[in-house]
Amino acid sequence: MSRIAYVNGRYLPQRDASVNIEDRGYQFSDGVYEVCEVSEGRLVDERRHIERLQRSLAELRIAMPMSPAALGVVFREVVRRNRVRWGIVYLQITRGVSRRDHAFPPPGTAPSIVVTARNLDFANAEKLAADGVAVVTVPENRWERVDIKSVSLLPNVLAKQAAREQGAREAWFVDKEGRVTEGSSSNAWIVTRDGKVVTRQADHAILRGITRTVVLEVLAAHGLKLEERAFTVDEAHAAREAFVTSASQIVIPVVRIDGRPVGNGAPGLIASALRRDFHRHAEFS
Ligand code: PMP
Repeated sequence: MSRIAYVNGRYLPQRDASVNIEDRGYQFSDGVYEVCEVSEGRLVDERRHIERLQRSLAELRIAMPMSPAALGVVFREVVRRNRVRWGIVYLQITRGVSRRDHAFPPPGTAPSIVVTARNLDFANAEKLAADGVAVVTVPENRWERVDIKSVSLLPNVLAKQAAREQGAREAWFVDKEGRVTEGSSSNAWIVTRDGKVVTRQADHAILRGITRTVVLEVLAAHGLKLEERAFTVDEAHAAREAFVTSASQIVIPVVRIDGRPVGNGAPGLIASALRRDFHRHAEFS
């Protein structure tokens, strides 16, 4: 079955889908994206993802090319046409096509929009969750506005590759003070020896993950203690548990950091409980 992409108003077989070589996304990474989980064929937390999209676009002064409701229709249609049961829908919006010039294109230049969707390997994700994953740490080298979900991801690409080359699944960025900001494509969490769940406050130094927001609700429902603050790599090494969150993987326990076991080296109870209960707190549409 050929995959179908939505590109600027048309549903096309993915092999025929293309963007203009003068698209500003291609030339300058001048665009934003969203990734939304699809679970049993339904969108998870669509409303929150579209709200974050609107915020990212507003920060970069790119116009929203269609209403949230129309975008929801496109999401569902792409999910349906690709027969996605469990996977992701990907959206990218750029500042559009214009003769190459760093400054913004003329007013009225239409943003470009692409939506794709695909199934993920459910069994593989469950195995990762059951086994836990390794992370490595890398120096934070991104710009100061990573709260904007921009497609400019070169440091994240290099960090993820560094992780893979060291046999790890994720890389955690560490700022100059030795504190973890977030993963290359996930938010970072630890559970301290005395049972407090810690994740960095959502300022400009991290992306405010939608999964992170929902996990905060799950924690509250369980009556678990939360501290929204930066934690150091040393604290992470001494932690009882660690885990990462993202829309495509929900909650994944971290069992090694830079080659050293976290806690007893097995997935933690809190991470596993958060993963189990996540979808009871998420919104389906
Ligand atoms: N931080 C970064 C850098 C990411 O790429 C992601 C995944 N999009 C996240 C955090 C987690 O965000 P979410 O839970 O919305 O997927």
